[in-house]
Amino acid sequence: MLSSPLSKLVLDGREFFVKRDDFIDPFLAGNKYRKLYTLLQTPKENYKTIISYGGTQSNAMLAIAAMCKQKGWHFYYYTKALSQRQKTQAEGNYFHALSLGMQHKELDTIHYRDFVASLRLNLDEKSYIIDQGGADKSVREGMEVLASEIRAAKLEIDAIATPSGTGTSALYLALALPEYRVYTTPCVGDSDYLKEQMSALELIPNNLIILEPKKKFHFAKPYPEFLEIYKRLLNAGVAFDLLYAPSLWLALLDQTQEKILYVHSGGVSGNESMLKRYEKKGLLFNE
Ligand SMILES: *Cc1c(COP(=O)(O)O)cnc(C)c1O
Repeated sequence: MLSSPLSKLVLDGREFFVKRDDFIDPFLAGNKYRKLYTLLQTPKENYKTIISYGGTQSNAMLAIAAMCKQKGWHFYYYTKALSQRQKTQAEGNYFHALSLGMQHKELDTIHYRDFVASLRLNLDEKSYIIDQGGADKSVREGMEVLASEIRAAKLEIDAIATPSGTGTSALYLALALPEYRVYTTPCVGDSDYLKEQMSALELIPNNLIILEPKKKFHFAKPYPEFLEIYKRLLNAGVAFDLLYAPSLWLALLDQTQEKILYVHSGGVSGNESMLKRYEKKGLLFNE
């Protein structure tokens, strides 16, 4: 693939560069494209089936579904039980993943953990398991490709930023770009939990800096300050996701000063259903 494009935006009088990984593909974009890079380069014949598990609106789920459709691989996705409302929704990541051929399997909450732990036990050589959110050592390769695109652009920047769920993307990006500081914020759980997840994969390098959000935000909940920064960024010219980006942008404006390249992590396909939730809470049109 060609290098993803770059944009500039001005916020609070500061100029930021944005690496537009959101432009790569409607469904298989952002850091999920980078994380699945190794599998995307794998010949079709090597696998028949991809198995994964996790949340039912996950961006990773949607990206894996898009990859499997492209490759002609079966995709089995395990989750806890789903609400009737979600099953019948004609929008959102779950709906799109099903239309791409994902086979969804619901598990009773009490059996979920044991079942997920047992997935690797009877795996044949034509099947591959992707852990929740794509937390996998193979992510290194995709992040090295991203790092070489960033180096080739020869930007005048001091630091790079990208938000964290599992932390896999920020971790491998920092390892691939030791000459820059890489800023991130935890969006699922706190900094300790983020460090724990990263440490399960690699030693955390010194150039990776975890900015602590000023306030405790719970993952995937609507917050007025998230909507506000989302709108300001949109006015500045770039649409970001509503789950991960807002917290990092707030922390960057508050806790950093240098010239930063923000690596867009994708996820805008989930905004439609998230904006509906803001609307329901009466937050959307409060200017
Ligand atoms: C998955 C995702 C993240 C988190 O990526 P990790 O590698 O799990 O830290 C961040 N932003 C968006 C938009 C995502 O979809």
